[in-house]
Amino acid sequence: MAEASRSVSENPSSTTRVDEDGSAARRTSRGKGGSVVLSRSAFASEISQALSRVPIDKPVRHHGTVHVLDSRCKECEFCVVFCPKEVLEISDRYTSAGYRPARVKAGKEADCIACGFCEDVCPEYAIYVVEDSP
Ligand code: SF4
Ligand code: SF4
Repeated sequence: MAEASRSVSENPSSTTRVDEDGSAARRTSRGKGGSVVLSRSAFASEISQALSRVPIDKPVRHHGTVHVLDSRCKECEFCVVFCPKEVLEISDRYTSAGYRPARVKAGKEADCIACGFCEDVCPEYAIYVVEDSP
């Protein structure tokens, strides 16, 4: 009786099975644990993913939403001065403690790049930034 398929082996751990109807499947041995059979298209997709590359100069834009805890802010202006995007300012209202808390400038809501400088320099832990998902 003729065999229904023949195998072509390139290395001990991988063979290509070619069936009588011309279809082919890549069989990858996984040792004693068994084997996995991939269709030609799935195998091509797997190879494509493994070899895919992302340009290293692809621009990645970060954006953050700033939150100021007014009751902790002592109006030192460190965050205002250190923000590289000039997103922050001191507000014109007073807290019950007598300080004017920092706030995001009107129209600058989309400019925060989530660098975290304001968080790092704030001595009162009064400001934090939540990075938005891309
Ligand atoms: S995270 Fe950076 S860009 Fe955003 S407000 Fe703070 S210092 Fe400015
Ligand atoms: S650094 Fe902190 S305490 Fe100082 S103004 Fe900014 S939020 Fe307020």
